[in-house]
Amino acid sequence: MTLTEKILARAAGKASVQAGDNVWVQADVLMTHDVCGPGTIGVFKREFGDKAKVWDRNRIVIIPDHYIFTADSKSNRNVDILRDFVREQGITYFYDVIDDPNGHWVFDAAKGALKRQHGSHYAGVCHAALAQKGHTRPGEVLFGTDSHTCMAGAFNEFATGIGNTDAGFVMGTGKLLIKVPETMHFQLEGKLQPGVMAKDIILHCIGEVGFDGATYRALQFDGAGATSLSMDDRMTIANMAIEAGGKNGIFEFDAQTQAFVDYRCKLNGTKATYDPAARDKNEKFVYEHVLDLSKLEPTVACHPDPGQRKLARELGHIKLDRAYIGSCTGGKTSDFLEFARILRGKRVAIDTFGVPATPEIVHDLQTARWDNQTVWEILVAAGVQMTENAGCAACLGGPVDTFGRMNAPLKCISATNRNFPGRMGHKESQVFLASPATVAASALAGKITDPREYLPA
Ligand code: SF4
Repeated sequence: MTLTEKILARAAGKASVQAGDNVWVQADVLMTHDVCGPGTIGVFKREFGDKAKVWDRNRIVIIPDHYIFTADSKSNRNVDILRDFVREQGITYFYDVIDDPNGHWVFDAAKGALKRQHGSHYAGVCHAALAQKGHTRPGEVLFGTDSHTCMAGAFNEFATGIGNTDAGFVMGTGKLLIKVPETMHFQLEGKLQPGVMAKDIILHCIGEVGFDGATYRALQFDGAGATSLSMDDRMTIANMAIEAGGKNGIFEFDAQTQAFVDYRCKLNGTKATYDPAARDKNEKFVYEHVLDLSKLEPTVACHPDPGQRKLARELGHIKLDRAYIGSCTGGKTSDFLEFARILRGKRVAIDTFGVPATPEIVHDLQTARWDNQTVWEILVAAGVQMTENAGCAACLGGPVDTFGRMNAPLKCISATNRNFPGRMGHKESQVFLASPATVAASALAGKITDPREYLPA
């Protein structure tokens, strides 16, 4: 069995499963957020009754993160619906925007978008927060009402996005009927060269198969090249399995995985035991691709979908209006450090927005010092508009007052993960997906640029 099949077999209480089997699996964690949480709660109450209790109040994790820093009253109200439900059900893990469990969330637009407006429990973008708060464990099954839930496959777990109806059912029963996906095998060899990042790996792989080339399939990443990648890198790659249509992305368990997970579970007092899935000799794959990371070049997914692969050096003719770094995929500490390494001591030529994925990442950037400046100060000095209000922001467009949203038909290079028409706002805007390094170099030049032109000595 492949890694995905092994985890699903275990969660179904079976000795083995194979691709195409339909099995009832036991969930370990169900995550929902402010966009889908109210709908999921509505389904749960409709199907199980107004007085029903959730299947396990310790296994449902609620993370508001999407439409948070907006004066849109309906969006603010969604966070209040989550808070009311958490109180009613006694749910343990709720990363509220405000500290008052009986309060109401209202964004104060008069304070501006840059200064922190959230309370001390707020955790930022759900997928990054799940990992940082100790909710991602090897060998487990994680369902989330968000397509990028697959990011947790970096931790050797089966993690996938589900709709509100399925999530309402999981909320009531802890179970879900799953068709076991076929597995595609991406064997990574060699090491990334300077200026080339994990984002380039996944953009390459999606370009190889197309934006629907992995529909309802598992993407398994392994090999010596995968082992050489940091946990942040693996998260970037697993996150975008869905951009090829994948059901999930998954990595092997190793010492790095263990160190990350053990540290995070201990830090947050979450469940610290788990059972990783190891590879079998008799894995059956429907597709094989061997990728030598040392040969990879900075890669861009052009408008209008994540499969439109080109090399950054081929796209110097594309002039840009905007650059954006942020999201679960591209807003991690390591992403901002690479971004800052290229921008340091220089000045961006176009509007450039920076949105860290979580408050912890804001803190990292505001405390990491390079000589006599923090990384945050370096970015601000380079002209980047950095917000302390970590969250999804313009990755998903959002209400018109969302920080960084494209309200006009602009061309933007972005470290986010999805670029279908209208994704970041205006339906005629164009988004070019790239690594934080390529976004930085392009922000300096005002056109799509290979970051190797700007690498510091
Ligand atoms: S940052 Fe973007 S991709 Fe990630 S969860 Fe938020 S909207 Fe989705």
